[in-house]
Amino acid sequence: MKAVAVIPGRPNSVHLADAPVPKVTDIPNGRGVLVKVLQIGVDATDREINEALYGNPPPGFEYLIIGHESFGEVVEVGPNVRDLKAGDLVSCTVRRPGGSIYDQIGRNDITSEETYYERGINLLHGYLTELFVDDCEYMVKVPLKLKHLGVLSEPASVCAKAIEQAYLAQQRLQVWQPRRAFVLGAGQIGLLATMMLRLRGLEVFTLARGAAPNLKAKITAGYGATYVSTATTSVHDLIKQVGKPDIVFECTGNSEIAFKAMEILGLNGVLIWTSITGGKKEITIPADQINLHWVLGNKLLVSSVNGNRRHFELGISALAHGELAYPSVTEQILTHPVAGLHQYSEMMRLLVEDKDALKVFVNVAG
Ligand code: BGC
Ligand code: ZN
Repeated sequence: MKAVAVIPGRPNSVHLADAPVPKVTDIPNGRGVLVKVLQIGVDATDREINEALYGNPPPGFEYLIIGHESFGEVVEVGPNVRDLKAGDLVSCTVRRPGGSIYDQIGRNDITSEETYYERGINLLHGYLTELFVDDCEYMVKVPLKLKHLGVLSEPASVCAKAIEQAYLAQQRLQVWQPRRAFVLGAGQIGLLATMMLRLRGLEVFTLARGAAPNLKAKITAGYGATYVSTATTSVHDLIKQVGKPDIVFECTGNSEIAFKAMEILGLNGVLIWTSITGGKKEITIPADQINLHWVLGNKLLVSSVNGNRRHFELGISALAHGELAYPSVTEQILTHPVAGLHQYSEMMRLLVEDKDALKVFVNVAG
């Protein structure tokens, strides 16, 4: 069976591997679900694994099959699988439990162990292949009418979790009623976060470098939010016009902006960090001023990564709700299809070079 893999630790090693064909009986206790892959999304994590910044192969393998944003069709289920059948559409979660108490209660997304097990990222093979199998615990159903957006299930889970974490943490304030959000970054995560914050009734400003008109601005407007190009309007100008935000959702992939975001948050506000930055950048910050305003302003920083089964369900619900509220907007995120696993070089080239690619994804079948 064909699979797109890298040799972890060796830069630019992406290649087509010949992987063993999975069987439903690979999973114990009759709980296996065998899935034919339809589409797999790729993101900066796949690019950085190919750059050998992180990622490890499963024990006993030299290669790691990449791809963690899965979408496929069930072809066979084990005898103890109750809620899935052949023909159902599914996405499969990414992280698998370790041994911490969080892992033991199904919250492997917040494991307290340094070693984490993530399909397609660390120590477990991913989904950029023809077929995969896993325990039904990790398979999340995607409604048939959402087939065109199914490949966005995993990024939607990441956004849904991050926003929910912020709202849960803000219960500390008892009567918090956020009105305004700034989303920093308008990649797939920024745009999905824009949608989810709009669905919660907030006034949303989505900031990115590119001058409007462009596709990011069009999608942002489609969600009833305001696109702000930082090429023409600085975030401080924006604050002068509209006031400080109650929520800042940072997803630029730039740690400098993540720290600068601390200077723009309103009183009692929450800053959400989702960028994963593999580099070694150092910056200078106005530490006294930030400390002063954060303490006097009761501000909160929430970091969020990954998502478990319930976050996938939340993300898929948000995609469905978004489709009703803003029909045909979300599909415009799916800018760069790649036809087949054998086009893995083109897939990586788009991830590295094409700055207009909001979403690169591989049409594996169907
Ligand atoms: C994935 C997450 C994962 C994180 C860290 C992201 O790209 O979407 O599921 O937890 O990388 O490896
Ligand atoms: Zn990812």
